[in-house]
Amino acid sequence: MANSGQKVVLITGCSSGIGLRIAVTLAKDEKKRYHVIATMRDLKKKDKLVEAAGDTYGKTLMLLPLDVCSDESVKQCINNVKDRHIDILINNAGVGLLGPVESISIEEMKRVFETNFFGVVRMIKEVMPDMKKRRSGHIVVMSSVMGLQGVVFNDVYTASKFAMEGFCESMAVQLMKFNIRLSMIEPGPVHTEFETKMMEDVAKMEYPGADADTVRYFKDVYLPSSIDIFEAMGQTPEDIAKCTKKVIE
Ligand code: NDP
Repeated sequence: MANSGQKVVLITGCSSGIGLRIAVTLAKDEKKRYHVIATMRDLKKKDKLVEAAGDTYGKTLMLLPLDVCSDESVKQCINNVKDRHIDILINNAGVGLLGPVESISIEEMKRVFETNFFGVVRMIKEVMPDMKKRRSGHIVVMSSVMGLQGVVFNDVYTASKFAMEGFCESMAVQLMKFNIRLSMIEPGPVHTEFETKMMEDVAKMEYPGADADTVRYFKDVYLPSSIDIFEAMGQTPEDIAKCTKKVIE
């Protein structure tokens, strides 16, 4: 349970990557300012987080199951938080999808929107009434540079992040009236399982319907330069966790 003076922070998607690192960084805060509720959809994946959390596990960090694609799971998770009191919500869970639209089913596209867009909407809808009642709160959303700019063969992922940015920009003005802040973080490339999966997808990628010039541009220009950018400027989950901590301080 949170001590008085500690802020309750709930983070989505803590089984790996950025979410895991944000959870651990906040739980290990030197001034013990945060009571971290790290959530993941499959608690069987908790070992990496528990190991990284060390002796903060069970003290400043606790775990709850949460699938952001399920209304029921979202409601149950928030109901399990004492008095439903969350000071800071960090919407981190997200999935990627790469490839020409002709090769992607509508069902796969919906899955990306269910997670990256409706997952955030569900969470905000659930925490907003209590934050409004208390007239305080901070909602952080993990967007991407691809929430600002379209990228070839990333059409659906980019669209899901654009949609989320539009939703959040509109909400921010309304939330401000209740003293609730809404912040978006827009990382460039970060070395996580997300990136590994993307590279695996690229290796298997087929290009039905795409014209030869676009495929050539993607393979000969975009991919090599992205890999160069990753190697030269790719950030670590620790970098994004430090940035997130600054945003909520
Ligand atoms: P990871 O793949 O390492 O982590 C994604 C996390 O989201 C996992 O914990 C995953 O859980 C979780 N997740 C997926 N679907 C759901 C769901 N339905 N309910 C709850 N959790 C879910 O990727 P990153 O850490 O890199 O990505 C985190 C965020 O950062 C994403 O929103 C991504 O779009 C964004 N981002 C990443 C960049 C990068 O280069 N890596 C760049 C810019 C933004 P599970 O293990 O169960 O799949």
